[in-house]
Amino acid sequence: MKKWMKAFALAAICVLSAVTLAGCGGQGADSGKKVLKVGSSIDFAPFEFQDEGQKEYQGFDMDLIRALGKEMGYEVEVNNLPFDGLIPALQNKTVDVAISGMTINDERKENVLFSDPYYQAGLTMVVRDDEQAIQKFTDLKGHKVAVQIGTTSAEEVKKIEGVEIHELNTPADCFTELKARGVDAVVNDRPVNDYYIQKSGATGVKALPERLTAEDYGIAMPKDNAELQKKVNEALKKLKDSGEYDKIYAKWFGEQK
Ligand code: GLN
Repeated sequence: MKKWMKAFALAAICVLSAVTLAGCGGQGADSGKKVLKVGSSIDFAPFEFQDEGQKEYQGFDMDLIRALGKEMGYEVEVNNLPFDGLIPALQNKTVDVAISGMTINDERKENVLFSDPYYQAGLTMVVRDDEQAIQKFTDLKGHKVAVQIGTTSAEEVKKIEGVEIHELNTPADCFTELKARGVDAVVNDRPVNDYYIQKSGATGVKALPERLTAEDYGIAMPKDNAELQKKVNEALKKLKDSGEYDKIYAKWFGEQK
């Protein structure tokens, strides 16, 4: 077959299956239901996590993406990927969307599209209870600080002069390192730090009140799928208008916004 014919045939197949969101692929084989392949790094409670002995992934992002999928007529299939592997997975189309407490920023926008913002966060610090020297971000100079690799925390801490930065795989690894005195502070997203301290029964550590940044979370999608971006934004708006978003929000964060 000539090259152009091959390309044409491939395009035709894509068009025929274009009922799926991400062009080729995404059709649930046996159920006949459309599947939305979601990438998420399941290490970020209360946004995405897995309780011991539980099969189901849970959290605010998980509830939100399932509600969005339902609204758009898709069955949601979540794939657990490392946080720094999410953008590559979107680029090579292993997944259709990524939801993972991911901050919308210009650098990422060069590689992916984002939905409208769905949650406001920002960075705070966790230190040991007996810590005297570190109260503000500027106090980090001369200290060892753990951050999750590939995150805005890593980026921001690199801007502070004289910090010895330890880039670890997950926030849990960062907290373990803090308790083991391998580092003096953890920089991470505020709601995740707060949840760790308040809900997971962490002892011997405290979150400090200062906020280094204000960041918006967005759902990331392949750069070439503006159609999907539009659908996700429409579905997000519907969930906000119907009160469904507020219900999910209240479940994880209480009524206060
Ligand atoms: N919001 C931070 C970021 O986008 C951290 C996200 C995460 O670790 N899941 O980099």
